[in-house]
Amino acid sequence: MANELYKEMAAYIDTRKDFMRERRQDFHKHAEAGWHEVRTCSIIADHLVKLGYDKAPFKLLMGKECMNDDERMGLPDQEELDFIYQRALDEGAIMPYAEKFKDGHTAVIAILETGKPGPVIGLRTDIDALGVVECQDPAIHRPAREGFASIHPGEMHSCGHDGHATINMMVAETLMKYKDQLCGTVKMVFQPSEEGVRGAKSIVGSGVLDDVQYMLGIHVGSRKDDEQLGFRYGLNMANAKMDVYLTGKACHAASPENGNNAMLAMAAIVQGVYGIPRASVGDARINVGQVFAGSGRNVVCDRVKMVMELRGLTQASLEYLEPYARRIIEHAAAMHGCTAEIVMMGATPCYPTDDRAFADEMCKLAGSLGFKTDGPYDDNTSEDYTYMAQRVMENGGKSCFVWVMTPEAAAHHAVTFDFEEKDLLNGAKFYCGAVTYLMGLTKM
Ligand SMILES: [Zn+2]
Ligand SMILES: [Zn+2]
Repeated sequence: MANELYKEMAAYIDTRKDFMRERRQDFHKHAEAGWHEVRTCSIIADHLVKLGYDKAPFKLLMGKECMNDDERMGLPDQEELDFIYQRALDEGAIMPYAEKFKDGHTAVIAILETGKPGPVIGLRTDIDALGVVECQDPAIHRPAREGFASIHPGEMHSCGHDGHATINMMVAETLMKYKDQLCGTVKMVFQPSEEGVRGAKSIVGSGVLDDVQYMLGIHVGSRKDDEQLGFRYGLNMANAKMDVYLTGKACHAASPENGNNAMLAMAAIVQGVYGIPRASVGDARINVGQVFAGSGRNVVCDRVKMVMELRGLTQASLEYLEPYARRIIEHAAAMHGCTAEIVMMGATPCYPTDDRAFADEMCKLAGSLGFKTDGPYDDNTSEDYTYMAQRVMENGGKSCFVWVMTPEAAAHHAVTFDFEEKDLLNGAKFYCGAVTYLMGLTKM
């Protein structure tokens, strides 16, 4: 019978719908924002070990084993990392795995080596929550009503990554169950800190995706009619998020000649960066979103923190804007006798998430597997999956970003965001369908 293997996998996934609902709701309740995902990773690792991924020929990479430390962006300070590590242990993070994820090393990759010739396929899901205070009103928010709203004030899964993590756990389980019928290699990537575009670069920087020929990413998306999977050709704006720390010298405001006024440097920087001339290399944006400065009415300010971001519709426009802004920051600081430190908090390249022909092919495949599909059409996303797509496509591989459509209770990142867990099954099924198709085991 046609596509028997895929049908068996899909039927198996259907039997695990309670597991998927419970797993998503538990991740939701214990929401961990970027670089905090110690408990989340330990649960994922425990699941993968129970499936046998830690035994050769399979591989389980945890923390530093699949990350480049120097390419992590926007890490919290040590005090915060220590606090969330202890909190994770208090809330049931699983040992001995939890230790591997200490100090912002919150990534897991499971590798299914079948030992038979075939393609190398990467499946990425992100796993982090946002810095959002979740709505706790049972009248208007289902997670509050059903008792799985976040117990961490200021951390909420309001972008669905709790569901994404669950999808890849289910895929890892299903592929292992049917491993004897598969060929090639599958790398299931559980990526931290997508929000703020901080985590993907460190995974790519480890080299673990260098041999991947087909890369897929996944995200929940808002269903309009009855579509189950969506396909779009995404092109990210190039993005650079930076925090700027200015240091001057405090003194009494009655004798300002004894100090170096960081407030003046900040003012010159704000005026300066918004005044960068437009250029022919592409449209661009700049925003200074927050400044923290000063200690009192009669004190010359010695410390400033500025939170800003730059975006370009082309890579060239960001490459024009960023060094220009850096020059203004450094020289405006020097002009007022201050020093400036620039810390990169996040970045994405301007690169498409999809190989167009491959996205068309994946959309057709989804239709032939019985999914109602939407697209593909052009759309702009902002996702650090772009780093993975770029690495794979520059190595001659193909990439596609898939949307799992579901009725969403509110916009992504809203305090009342929610979705229907049963739709996660479609994500897990499609990942398995795509894997078996790319292995030549499922036909259109
Ligand atoms: Zn998001
Ligand atoms: Zn997201």
